[in-house]
Amino acid sequence: MIDIKAIAERDRSSVLHPFTQLKKYATGNSGDPTIVTGGQGIRIQDAEGRSYIDAFAGLYCVNIGYGRTEVAEAIARQAYKLAYYHTYAAHTTEELARLSDRLVRMAPGKPSKVFFGLSGSDANETQAKLVWYYNNLRGQPKKKKIISRDRGYHGCSVVSGSMTGMSFYHDHMDLPFPGIVHTGAPHHYWGAEPGETEEAFSRRRAAELEELILREEPDTVGAFIAEPVLGTGGITPPPTDYWREIQAVLRRYDVLLIADEVICGFGRTGADFGSTLYEIEPDLVTVAKGLTSGYVPLSAAIVGEKVYAVMEEAADRVGAFSHGYTYSGHPIAAAAANAVLDIVERERLSDRARTVGSHFQNRLKERFAQLEIVGEVRGVGLLGAIEFVADRQTKRRFDPKLKVGARISKAARDRGLIARAMPHGDILGFAPPLVVSEAEIDEIVELAHGATKQVLDELSKESALA
Ligand SMILES: *Cc1c(COP(=O)(O)O)cnc(C)c1O
Repeated sequence: MIDIKAIAERDRSSVLHPFTQLKKYATGNSGDPTIVTGGQGIRIQDAEGRSYIDAFAGLYCVNIGYGRTEVAEAIARQAYKLAYYHTYAAHTTEELARLSDRLVRMAPGKPSKVFFGLSGSDANETQAKLVWYYNNLRGQPKKKKIISRDRGYHGCSVVSGSMTGMSFYHDHMDLPFPGIVHTGAPHHYWGAEPGETEEAFSRRRAAELEELILREEPDTVGAFIAEPVLGTGGITPPPTDYWREIQAVLRRYDVLLIADEVICGFGRTGADFGSTLYEIEPDLVTVAKGLTSGYVPLSAAIVGEKVYAVMEEAADRVGAFSHGYTYSGHPIAAAAANAVLDIVERERLSDRARTVGSHFQNRLKERFAQLEIVGEVRGVGLLGAIEFVADRQTKRRFDPKLKVGARISKAARDRGLIARAMPHGDILGFAPPLVVSEAEIDEIVELAHGATKQVLDELSKESALA
């Protein structure tokens, strides 16, 4: 048996945890850490022997589910054979070449080459450098600004964190970095004028993007980065026509499109990529999370033909491509990714996310859409969200002090369900492993429903309802 108390004490005294209130944790006011000891399928276990359905797949990443031994075996095989070599100066491994080739074959847009990193954040950092490099090489040295969207999420490093369009990722940390500009979120529920259709709202967002590009001056705007489906900003599928309207503007001003497929990639939305589903033709594509289902860290910046051609063309003049990490294309990560993608393909997890996902969307709507504190139920494939409001008619939000989203998430956890309180409003988010069954979906929805009813009762007792 492991010594739970000793682990908790060591952890509390030494680990700087992401997204954790430091003082509450240090003083024990927010309780002990959850020591996660194991996982199988869609469930994880903690050191106290409790089991939870992980309806968020870790952080939207464990698409193939926990405990897939064939991935562990692929990792072990590569570790025994060759645990590490770098990829500088044209060194490679068999697993890396296989992975890169399959990504070029399957990725959206017109993929040409793949640059490997370790996280979604560093891959988006690479994308920014590629935009700057490309425009320098083709003699457009002013065309450097990158536009992202309010509520977009692109990571936490300096440039990727600046692309992220939520102020609490910037506050007290001197972000955003100059040259990163934000435009409106594609969220019809919150953004539309009364009576405005999704189509009209999409046209308005595209017109605002165009105005922004003109205001900034088109020859200073290098790229637009966006998730096909907005993730951490609230799990929000794009309104009708959004991507068609936006892409028309980008083409007009020669602005590169970076599709951040970190969540959508490899089946989550019910298609291989979010770009496939929404007919997006990106110049650069970022993947991470689902690429290895989280089994080891790996990300990729997939470079389209248009950008790559300029880079190769300039090589005699500028010399080697001077960007890379010690662990770019790590052989163990490449072996893990190949084993994961073999499972994704063999088990047709994109198709599964579409069929089981449609059951999931229906069940969520059936059970939640009519509740008096539910403003919107939304999602696509195996991504879903419920947004809670104090007044459905006027869309009045709950007082943030009530922490309604966090309370519902906590009540769900007490019932053995992990569903995430999303950081921007009172939102309960779902992104279960893509191997989830319809029966397990029913279980997830019922547990979430029970948790919501419980908090609804508490709120009415506290007279916190409209
Ligand atoms: C998680 C995420 C990232 C950042 O990935 P990390 O591996 O956490 O750095 C970037 N973009 C999107 C869309 C994400 O969801």
